[in-house]
Amino acid sequence: MNTLSECPSWCDREHLTDIGADQIHEAPLESVPVVAMSRTFPRGGALLRSVEATEVVVFAYQYVGDDETWIAVVEEELQRQRIEISLESARRLQRSLTALLDRIG
Ligand SMILES: [Zn+2]
Repeated sequence: MNTLSECPSWCDREHLTDIGADQIHEAPLESVPVVAMSRTFPRGGALLRSVEATEVVVFAYQYVGDDETWIAVVEEELQRQRIEISLESARRLQRSLTALLDRIG
């Protein structure tokens, strides 16, 4: 693997020699199967709900030369589901989700 001296410990990306074309450090992607709610509003019709099995990828990245780490949860194929937030925001979201899931069992 071609790492950079400044790679964070979690970076698993094979960097190109031309850093201008390869601007992020990236943690390995983790695929997670999910069931997602979808809503559509047909013209003149009632709200339609549908449930669909899909897959999201969870990963961390950081722009080369920047200190901020970003956490992404992205539906890889169609990108209809997408969360891309700072590391601190992800920790707040994690605490909130843990508390919610503990409350509802
Ligand atoms: Zn890197």
